[in-house]
Amino acid sequence: MGNTCKRCFSVEGAETEEDEHEILFFSLRHAATVTLKEMHQFGAQANNKRALLLAAQFLHEELPIRLARRVRELKKLPFGLGETAAMTQVRKLYEKSFFQIRRTPTPKTLEIEENFTQVLDRMMSEHNNVQATVARGLQELLTREGDFAMHQRGIISREHIPGSIASFDFGQFLDRFYLSRVGMRVLVGQHIMLHHPQDGFIGIIQTECQPAFVCSHAIQDAQHICQLSYGVAPNVQMEGSIDMKLPYIPEHLHYIFFELLKNSMRADELPPVSVVFAEGDEDIAIKISDKGGGISRSGMERLWTYSFTTAGKTREKLHQLEHDDKPVMAGFAHGLPLSRIHARAFGGDLQVMSMQGHGTDVYIYLWKLGDREVSVP
Ligand code: ADP
Ligand code: MG
Repeated sequence: MGNTCKRCFSVEGAETEEDEHEILFFSLRHAATVTLKEMHQFGAQANNKRALLLAAQFLHEELPIRLARRVRELKKLPFGLGETAAMTQVRKLYEKSFFQIRRTPTPKTLEIEENFTQVLDRMMSEHNNVQATVARGLQELLTREGDFAMHQRGIISREHIPGSIASFDFGQFLDRFYLSRVGMRVLVGQHIMLHHPQDGFIGIIQTECQPAFVCSHAIQDAQHICQLSYGVAPNVQMEGSIDMKLPYIPEHLHYIFFELLKNSMRADELPPVSVVFAEGDEDIAIKISDKGGGISRSGMERLWTYSFTTAGKTREKLHQLEHDDKPVMAGFAHGLPLSRIHARAFGGDLQVMSMQGHGTDVYIYLWKLGDREVSVP
């Protein structure tokens, strides 16, 4: 292993048999469990340089395991999915990050730690577009001929296709993939942000995060993009326990609100959308209700497949998303399943209830972080 980082940024992925073995070796190890509560407690003492070094050493050991496990899973994907151009690109990116970390020396001094954190920082931005790339891979597959594509598109049901295809659940694979991605981004983001302390935050965790406050920003953002797409946007009302606060990662809440509100704003007429906040003893619940006409029963069955959308023109939108990195109103078919992943990341959940002809209610449940031991996925 060299002691500079020059080589690591020229690495593209596994090149030799030894590289392959290195990945395999790490993929066989178990990822550690870290709870958000531990991250919060640990982060609180990160101005202690020794604690910062320990955190960096932990990541230096842990991230290659998590990356390698994903590489292995991506390689094992059935139906040629792993060989689509997009999925290969994602796998190579994971391999590249794996070797970048492996070829950065263990952060035993503050200077090396600095360098390691820069590697992490760059890695985070290199992975920004992974969602869009995966979505492109899925599109590639869906536009092919064959039973699997027909099944994913909802044209034929599970009972009418051969066994091996029927037993592979693409939604479940992506749930695992994205849950792990969110987990890694939390661990890395937390470490990076410990270097840039912000008032009221420990790393990326806001100690007194107010969901209604985050929601009000998401409302503005959703209205803005809705206006750009349709020229108008409906009103949104907030009610209930608007004042409640909890330690949480506001970025995750914003993601969920933004995606759900965009969905609720797509109705032709502009019935107002309502957001209700409720604080329970151990968790909080938030309901987003609209009168936008709801979702069909067959649509409900395909809601979590990452390939159900009624927005159309997915291909163009994906191109836009991958290249401009700007949010789109709809068409990506990832909004609902990924919102559920973000809610589940720390033991929460998300449920959709719909009445076609009337409207949709989406329930978000979140544990109060400080109160419960939930591991970072
Ligand atoms: P996208 O918005 O990119 O289509 P989503 O995962 O956010 O992807 O939503 C998938 C589909 O579910 C939408 O295209 C739409 O048909 C349906 N849907 C989701 N939320 C609502 C809602 N609030 N009202 C009506 N339909 C909805
Ligand atoms: Mg959406």
